[in-house]
Amino acid sequence: MGTARTAIVTGAARGIGAAVATRLAADGLAVAVIDLDAADCGPVVASIEAGGGRALAVGADVADEPAVAAAVEQVTAELGPPTVLVNNAGIIRDNLLFKMTVADWDAVMAVHLRGAFLMARAVQGHMREAGFGRIVNLSSTSALGNRGQANYSAAKAGLQGFTKTLAIELGRFGVTANTVAPGFIETEMTHATAARMGVSFEDFTRVASEQIPVGRIGQPEDIAHTVSFLVSEGAGFVSGQVIYVAGGPKD
Ligand code: NAP
Repeated sequence: MGTARTAIVTGAARGIGAAVATRLAADGLAVAVIDLDAADCGPVVASIEAGGGRALAVGADVADEPAVAAAVEQVTAELGPPTVLVNNAGIIRDNLLFKMTVADWDAVMAVHLRGAFLMARAVQGHMREAGFGRIVNLSSTSALGNRGQANYSAAKAGLQGFTKTLAIELGRFGVTANTVAPGFIETEMTHATAARMGVSFEDFTRVASEQIPVGRIGQPEDIAHTVSFLVSEGAGFVSGQVIYVAGGPKD
């Protein structure tokens, strides 16, 4: 067996990112768990290590160019050159258009678009050298339009175009790029949305589930399973795709 591949998962201290990091470690990859504060990544790293996996906690703001460069250098030195990248870090700053501030617009663009760009640019050299790479960007069903999310839906739709271009540019180097677009997944992000709307999470979930064909909301592990497939060795002919993981069809 060769040396395990190294993956970077951003925004991995909690929620979907934590589930993806945990799953990729269980799949046998060494995983860099990146979030704003390295200390917040401790529990995910500890649980991966307790399961016999390899992981590293790294603190970095994905929208900060020097921080991204330093993070990728640290990962390369401590875990090996990263050839799998999951751009998962995300924030929401919801408001109706007429109330949306420029700061809330810019913050969302910075984390999702600038962050994914900086991370992908920083790791692509390692992927080209290895003749292998897997990039997965987290979009959302909100890319199709969602009231109160002009900034977020623009960023998430932007990530789909970004991904398709990476697939075209990097394909010849054995690198695939795909987008996973989750529907309603239970995380702190959706708990915060319910709180902001003034409804209990139970009520929020019940109403949402009625609209979802499989009759339930999603869990972070639903997304991790899809990401695991896309980064697998056998998925090398799947590239430039958007996979909606939403319990039903979205287009
Ligand atoms: P979450 O629970 O809020 O976790 C997101 C993580 O990203 C947090 O740990 C957050 O750190 C981190 N983060 C934020 N800004 C960052 C930055 N600049 N640099 C590094 N890390 C940063 O969110 P989630 O629900 O798991 O969502 C994960 C991804 O899936 C996001 O891209 C989100 O847009 C997407 N998504 C989620 C859903 C859903 O229903 N939950 C649906 C569709 C798409 P702090 O907590 O310290 O801020």
